[in-house]
Amino acid sequence: MARPTTIDDIQIILTQPGSVRLAVVKVMTSEPGLYGVGCATFTQRIHAVAAALERHLKPFLLGRDVSRIEEIWQMSMVHGYWRNGPVLNNAISGVDQALWDIKGKQAAMPVHDLLGGKVREGAHVYVHAAGPTAVEVADRVTEFVADGHRFVRVQQGFYGGTGGAVPRPEGAADGAYFDPAAYRRETLAMMEHVRSEVGPEVELLHDVHERLAPVDAVAFAKDVEPFRLFFLEDLLAPEDLVWFERVRSQCTTPLAMGELFNHPLEWRTVTERRLVDFLRMHVSQMGGITPARKTADMAHGYGLRTAWHGPADTSPVGHAANLHLDLWSPAFGVQEWYRPSELDYEMFPGLPEVRNGYLYGNDRPGLGIDIDETLAAEYPVIDVVEQWTQARLPDGSPARP
Ligand code: MG
Repeated sequence: MARPTTIDDIQIILTQPGSVRLAVVKVMTSEPGLYGVGCATFTQRIHAVAAALERHLKPFLLGRDVSRIEEIWQMSMVHGYWRNGPVLNNAISGVDQALWDIKGKQAAMPVHDLLGGKVREGAHVYVHAAGPTAVEVADRVTEFVADGHRFVRVQQGFYGGTGGAVPRPEGAADGAYFDPAAYRRETLAMMEHVRSEVGPEVELLHDVHERLAPVDAVAFAKDVEPFRLFFLEDLLAPEDLVWFERVRSQCTTPLAMGELFNHPLEWRTVTERRLVDFLRMHVSQMGGITPARKTADMAHGYGLRTAWHGPADTSPVGHAANLHLDLWSPAFGVQEWYRPSELDYEMFPGLPEVRNGYLYGNDRPGLGIDIDETLAAEYPVIDVVEQWTQARLPDGSPARP
């Protein structure tokens, strides 16, 4: 029997070509020139992921047979005894996606072929239209539609809206203040305006980002029903999943959830109980392609669709992994897409492209994407204390961002 190809080295590359810190893992093999890349981007705790990889996973994985993706995933998850969580899941994802990339290169097949082959040639994407006023949001939607987009997420202001006018108590701490009541009012008015401006054909989406109390979230889902959203995202926090049953009993607004999930019980619960319509986990946050493909199959069996998380804090490698899942899975619904810069395309050769509202990859073996490490080194990560996650309610109390 031929000697297996083994893991020779694991490197984590931290880089920041734009405003977001990215983590990409490179798995080197015993076969000269054969390597794979994977996304391990948990941007807010990027150094913790790097340490988990370098200090814990790498010593455990060196010398292992690269063909045994499933075994490596299972053993990596339990090797530290305590399992799951965003740091470990992202570290495992970096290796997992790289091993799928390697397997594809060995087989001379793109990853979507390894999974079972394409069911579609391109993936519907949705893009983000935001602005300080309803008029500006509608203008952005119109521009996107003129560019060939059919799915647009609409947000007035930032998550939680434009801020509101409730005075703060004396001595209140600094923070990213928002007013849930003002957010509800202005968002409903914005949706009404946008729908009247852009007509019925455009698919509109909206992200609540867990900014409402559960009972207000139930009412909000009813309030947006006339605007026929493609989906309403993160209406509730993962901690409040049981409230989805009440939403379901009150309205038919399609629901999407999952970017904060990092435990199988979270996505299994919403799937088995059909509490939402779209699963949108951050693929590296759930542990990579290995758990994502199983979850997509489960979603298909239960009548749910996928909408994998895909803003700028997914690395281009992660976007490529998302696209392979999208092209293969019959449960695919829509893919969130960001607007890559020219530098992104230069640093990550093979980064998928949007044409006429569809995302296309290439049919190169593996994930079909690489990283220019020399260029990546010219853009080191810049550490900051995150401000937008310091969300506060009008009275100054901490809120979920
Ligand atoms: Mg979101």
